[in-house]
Amino acid sequence: MSDKGFMEIPREDRGYQLPEQRVKHWKEFVIPLAPEVLNAQAHRCMDCGVPTCHGGEGSGCPTNNEIPEFNRLVQIGQWKKASENLHSTNNFPEITGRVCPAPCEAACVLNIDQAPVTIKTIECAIADKAIEEGWIVPERPQSRTGKKVTIVGSGMAGMACAQQLARVGHEVHIYERHAKAGGLVRYGIPDFKIEKGILDRRVAQMKGEGVTFHYNAHVGVNVDINDLRRKFDAVVLAGGSEVPRDVKIPGRELAGIHFAMEFLPQQNRRVSGEPVKAPDILATGKHVVVLGGGDTGSDCIGTAWRQEAKSVTQLEIMPRPPDQENGPMTWPEYPRFKFRTSSSQLDGDTGRDFAVATQSFSGEDGQVKKLHCIRMNGKERVVGSEFELNADLVLIAAGFTNPVHEGMLEQLGVKFNPPDSKLGPPG
Ligand code: SF4
Repeated sequence: MSDKGFMEIPREDRGYQLPEQRVKHWKEFVIPLAPEVLNAQAHRCMDCGVPTCHGGEGSGCPTNNEIPEFNRLVQIGQWKKASENLHSTNNFPEITGRVCPAPCEAACVLNIDQAPVTIKTIECAIADKAIEEGWIVPERPQSRTGKKVTIVGSGMAGMACAQQLARVGHEVHIYERHAKAGGLVRYGIPDFKIEKGILDRRVAQMKGEGVTFHYNAHVGVNVDINDLRRKFDAVVLAGGSEVPRDVKIPGRELAGIHFAMEFLPQQNRRVSGEPVKAPDILATGKHVVVLGGGDTGSDCIGTAWRQEAKSVTQLEIMPRPPDQENGPMTWPEYPRFKFRTSSSQLDGDTGRDFAVATQSFSGEDGQVKKLHCIRMNGKERVVGSEFELNADLVLIAAGFTNPVHEGMLEQLGVKFNPPDSKLGPPG
């Protein structure tokens, strides 16, 4: 094949099972590309002198994956070397290959024509091949440092941190408040986007590398953080930002209004057979309204359709973004303002409405029944544009404001930024 693949081969990406099939189960439904198609897609990489895809100044891959290098290795069929290259920058590429928003593709030079290299798909294929071929094995350290490190939180940051520290010879202990490792990937992202055996495999690898997992160990609640500080040479806080942004409007106290992270973990637990704390939050037979247009909102939508909701509507306070970003203006930055449709939004006949503010909830017998809304023009409410929606279940997916302060962080005496403030030291 010539080295002008980008001129000769159109972009091709993974397909999906049809909606009517995929909403009947909780398994992944992405259809991988055939090996010869993957090879051809890897040939579309131009191997740019300055590869903007592989990260750096605020654009491209946040883990600095060496994308042109692994594309080249896939082109020449060197899959094992491609896997080694990929794992040199990314601990869990089978996870990013499934759920990363792929800023690498936004930063690909070919995205100027809206046909970037299918980087995420190639990454996922390399990672899945590594699993299939048995290349994912424990990488034990050659010597021990004698140092002990504890990590609080077993989300992806905590797990990657633990893996790196164990591989250089430290004794590593992870403390996790839930019954299993994986944080948001385990309990937040639905199984239809990422099946959890993927996490179990990594946990097994990390145990083989010497990492000890302590489950149901909620630091600041049933584990004393100061005890950990005494016992370990270093403590890493990898708990993430778990306090959800609320929608504080009249009627918020009604039953049937929940944060996304009250709804989604229940379903993941049902799928994995973990016990679910009562009461069950289910979309079955209900008019569901999702507040928030991000990935978490989409996860709520896909879950609601699989639970056989009567209707699903998603509201976004921002105006509808343009179908296409202005490529030459935006590239290589991630186009935040671009109309996107997730597979979950296509799982059923999802209603989507933009530039809508919610004014109040109303209900009967303490249960939410309606959502009262108004249209927005910029920051102004459009007088006379009020309307209402049936809503038996409202799911708030409006992002997260800050880590939980009570418990561990307060016991540590750290200073806090005000909620919703920009990153940086507390003022
Ligand atoms: S999809 Fe993979 S290569 Fe692209 S930005 Fe995400 S982690 Fe990096």
